[in-house]
Amino acid sequence: MDIKEYVADSNIFYMGIPFQSDSSFKYYITPEILSEINHIQKKIDGLNLLLSLKKVIIIEPSLANIKYISNKIKSLGQFGLSNPDCSIIALGFQLNLPIISTDYTVINTAKSLSLHTIVPGKSNFEVKQNKKYCSICKKYFAFKYLYCNYCGNKLIFKSVNK
Ligand SMILES: [Zn+2]
Repeated sequence: MDIKEYVADSNIFYMGIPFQSDSSFKYYITPEILSEINHIQKKIDGLNLLLSLKKVIIIEPSLANIKYISNKIKSLGQFGLSNPDCSIIALGFQLNLPIISTDYTVINTAKSLSLHTIVPGKSNFEVKQNKKYCSICKKYFAFKYLYCNYCGNKLIFKSVNK
């Protein structure tokens, strides 16, 4: 069995991705990400189960790697990253695994450091998402739109694979 391994940001857990993926997926997180998940969402059902099944594994990046990455991030002039953000970039670097996140600051910073990244929905990750749809033009629009940009028709909700 091909194991697919990723370093996962907390937003991936809010989207429920680790809970939907089969046993060939493994997610690595840092202690900072774990406390972020626990802090924002008091209890995510099933997280303890994933931890005990070793589908989710907690690893603290080495101090040397954290220092190395935070210096790199500083030299990029990137100051918009939190400690948990920096910790997963350092872990992605340490384990040489792709970082999966929906946070573009994390993704772009990791890319600038030549690390592999995955944004759900842009790869083989199928994530259900509510979008707006024009039944005349058969086109999809972002959630915020009320009317079709092309024909002015009122848009309807539609759940799609992003
Ligand atoms: Zn239209």
